[in-house]
Amino acid sequence: MAYSAVQNSSAVTLEDCTCPICMSILIQPVTMPCTHELCMPCFRKTVEEANLCCPMCRLRIATWARLSTKQKTLVNEIRWKQIQTLFPEKVRRRQEGKDDDDGDLNDEDEPIHHPIVNIAEPGEIRKEYEEQLERLEKQREEERSKEEAESADLIKKLQREEEERARELERQAEEQRIKDEEIARKLAESAEVSVYL
Ligand SMILES: [Zn+2]
Ligand SMILES: [Zn+2]
Repeated sequence: MAYSAVQNSSAVTLEDCTCPICMSILIQPVTMPCTHELCMPCFRKTVEEANLCCPMCRLRIATWARLSTKQKTLVNEIRWKQIQTLFPEKVRRRQEGKDDDDGDLNDEDEPIHHPIVNIAEPGEIRKEYEEQLERLEKQREEERSKEEAESADLIKKLQREEEERARELERQAEEQRIKDEEIARKLAESAEVSVYL
């Protein structure tokens, strides 16, 4: 289930906390900007090492993944805490490597109708998530303007170099002109002298 649906739901089921790729309990859930969620091992396998697209909706998440990795916000901590609280046994067993992939959604973690308000007010998770997106957007914007400023600086530097080169060429041409005049003058002089010889 997409994260937005979990936020709006008053009761979260084990199915809601199951990775759509490996069908195991969502450990270290990564909530992508499209609100689809994967467990961290599946995210690494299908997204980071492959095509940087959400495997469910093909949304390109390269930039988001890069920034989130850098900021260490890849794991949706609020969601992770929620899953650990609701299904501690499932989480423990998966982390111990005893992955119960028998498709049994009705084992020791039942009953599964824990109200979401035990973890956070419904709006709280959404607010947190929106703030997170806002932070990412702001950082993206800052990086963009920094890159723009850097390229503007580079252009100015290249222009200065270009101007210097032009001045140098001009100076060399002027020197050459003076030398040529000198030679011409000397030739004229010697020609004059030979007339008198
Ligand atoms: Zn998975
Ligand atoms: Zn998606």
